[in-house]
Amino acid sequence: MTFLQRTTDVKRLRHWDIDMSMDYIYTSGIAGETFFKALRDEGRILAVHCPVCKVNQLPPRMFCEGCFTELTEYVDVPAEGRVAAVTVARVDRRGKPLPAPEVFAFVTFKGIQEGGLIHRLLVPPEAAKTGLAVRAKLKPKEARTGTILDIEGFEPVALQG
Ligand SMILES: [Zn+2]
Repeated sequence: MTFLQRTTDVKRLRHWDIDMSMDYIYTSGIAGETFFKALRDEGRILAVHCPVCKVNQLPPRMFCEGCFTELTEYVDVPAEGRVAAVTVARVDRRGKPLPAPEVFAFVTFKGIQEGGLIHRLLVPPEAAKTGLAVRAKLKPKEARTGTILDIEGFEPVALQG
């Protein structure tokens, strides 16, 4: 089939299997870069404050989704958060069984009115409960690369010394 030919009968559709290389760069944006640099270099988790709506939002974004104000004021997220929702993954994204179940949580923080972080919850599936008090477990500074994986996951506060 050439460019000049048209498909007029959908029962006669054809396809070709090919490998095509694609390069792309997905940037984290100004607010994302601020977030990831603070995480990598200082081990801080930042939210952003909207002075008009008087709310703190996580993850940070450049403009308030409520009032479109440009957001430039960053605030520290409290060290301790709460598990707001949990899920246990037993298969990978292709449906293949995982060697061990993986637990993920949505963690919210006092004083952060909008949003939170979704990450690994470092507990066995049977211990994954909403309301659990957790803290971020960070990678050692020298191992951090400026991605969300600089956080290894969230672990119960009771497990930390
Ligand atoms: Zn706002």
